[in-house]
Amino acid sequence: MQVEIVEVGPRDGLQTEKQHLSTDDKVRLIHQLVDAGVRKLEAVSFVNPKVVPQMANPEAVLEQVPRGQGIQYAGLVLSQSGAERALRCQLDAVHVAMATSDTFNRKNARRSVEQSVSEIVRIVQDVRAAGLPVVVCLATAFGCPYEGDVPFHRVLGIAEQFLAAGCSGITLADTVGAANPAQVSDGVRKFADRFGAEVPLGLHFHNTRGLGIANVYAGWLAGVRRFDTSVGGLGGCPFAPKAVGNVCTEDVVNMFQEMGVSVEIDTRQLTETAAWLEGVLGHPLDGMLMKAGPVYHGER
Ligand code: ZN
Repeated sequence: MQVEIVEVGPRDGLQTEKQHLSTDDKVRLIHQLVDAGVRKLEAVSFVNPKVVPQMANPEAVLEQVPRGQGIQYAGLVLSQSGAERALRCQLDAVHVAMATSDTFNRKNARRSVEQSVSEIVRIVQDVRAAGLPVVVCLATAFGCPYEGDVPFHRVLGIAEQFLAAGCSGITLADTVGAANPAQVSDGVRKFADRFGAEVPLGLHFHNTRGLGIANVYAGWLAGVRRFDTSVGGLGGCPFAPKAVGNVCTEDVVNMFQEMGVSVEIDTRQLTETAAWLEGVLGHPLDGMLMKAGPVYHGER
């Protein structure tokens, strides 16, 4: 299987920006990403717009995005009410997120880990009953800024309950950039040992300490083929102090393409989109390829 890029810029990327994108600009962003060849997007989230105003109007965004050509849109939900809104929209998948450490989860979702697990088990069952795939994203899986190391057996124990409830995959997220490549390969191996290598596992890294792309590479070597990334390296988390963006889509795609791994996404178009976003948001983005340009290989 080829590498699967899940573009999370329109969701994770935009949710902490001071400049709130209009619905039209969100739709423009998604159009550009799709034109560049991106086929899986976490396009919206169904959260309270009073708490995260950047994510207002997911319904309106989904009504205007391009369809067909194998494009798949996921919406992120954190609660039962969010899931009910999501299921009234035209989505191809639902993503549900919770943190694996109590303090972080209470700040992010105002629930204990235990409360979130039981609520999300019901969400997984409801989404499956509605005929959609559902992926659960476990945040702070590699470390919590409030509680420190998160025992990996706890992460696996949480994943097990969602897999038993019928979720179609798990994503392990390093919300605050605590992970290192050795920890990632160890975690991926433990996950496969416990659940089998055929259970779809995705990885979601933030580049907070510069290790995002090294962690992607470690995950890939360990057998993971699905990665969340955001154009231009956009992103952060409202509840992760000083979190920086997701690992950058075009930098990750460039790495794989330079390694000879086929990913059918046009990095030049993505760097143009990132440059356009810098203008809309009014500040520079963290992506590297957009600054350096493609590798020059000489005449071929
Ligand atoms: Zn994230």
